[in-house]
Amino acid sequence: MRAAVATGVHEPLALTTRDVPEPGPGELLVKVTACGICYSDLNLLKGEYPFAAFPVVPGHEISGVVAELGPGVSWPEVGTAVGGQFLHDSDGHCDYCARGEPILCPRKRITGVVVDGGYAEYTVLKERFATPLPAGLDPIAAAPLMCAGLTAFNGLRQGGATASSRVAVVGAGGIGALAIRYAVAMGARVAVVARSRRGEDAAKALGAELFVATDDQDPGETLRAWDGGADVVLNAAPSNAPAVAAMSGLAPDGTLVLCGYNTEPFSPPAQLMILNRLHIVANPSGSPHDLRDTLAFSVQHGILPEISTVDLEQAPSVLDAMDAGTAHGRGVITFA
Ligand SMILES: [Zn+2]
Ligand SMILES: [Zn+2]
Repeated sequence: MRAAVATGVHEPLALTTRDVPEPGPGELLVKVTACGICYSDLNLLKGEYPFAAFPVVPGHEISGVVAELGPGVSWPEVGTAVGGQFLHDSDGHCDYCARGEPILCPRKRITGVVVDGGYAEYTVLKERFATPLPAGLDPIAAAPLMCAGLTAFNGLRQGGATASSRVAVVGAGGIGALAIRYAVAMGARVAVVARSRRGEDAAKALGAELFVATDDQDPGETLRAWDGGADVVLNAAPSNAPAVAAMSGLAPDGTLVLCGYNTEPFSPPAQLMILNRLHIVANPSGSPHDLRDTLAFSVQHGILPEISTVDLEQAPSVLDAMDAGTAHGRGVITFA
């Protein structure tokens, strides 16, 4: 099969052929239909995952079809359309796994970072971590929902967003654009915080009522003038500074949700936080039940990301464009 392999930090992706893997006990062989190209894949190549197990096939926004069941596996049957996500598996017995939150498992393993992912014609998923695609979901456009969609949807949930919330989304890229649409569909009022006015029309078309351009507006002041501030600020920008800047726009008891970040120092305003009982929660994608909810909500509300499909051979140039900030829409690898 064709596969792209990350061989080490700052090494280019190697396009190669490999044997089709064999599913072991508890595993499924999945023929990959599509795999989204996530910013985490870029972070892997930049060395931001010290626990990465090179060489590894990247990719954790996997949409595919079950091709073969490992020994003892009876579900989901061959031919079922399934999604594979960031969380490859967990130990299954710790307190977090026991309470249904394997994403918090200290021994969780990450797809495409320590276990081979979806930049290949076939991949192996664990039966307990494969998510059946609901009927009516486009299997190619849905690929980025397995990470970007899950992170945005679950981030809003972790931040306590409801129909009566004011939600400010910082950054309107892959995760941000989905967060805007999920928050609008949840019934929340939505603001978008970005650097320039460039994305204003697009954000308003997605349902945002307020657009804050930090080039010429103070995000804290502007959000506070929005009926007292945001109940939830979701940082979807790949850096910390815009999240900290928007924090002063939180209403009392409000929550900053960190989905995007970088390795720069993160210095939230302690006094402001204490005086207003502000919260910060960081959200690492989600558990399998969160992905089921994300996909069901996406189908119900017709929410799919804007994608551009590419061949496996184009993956390196898409990653370069993402690094240079010139990528448009979410790149999704498809296999004919
Ligand atoms: Zn566990
Ligand atoms: Zn991801």
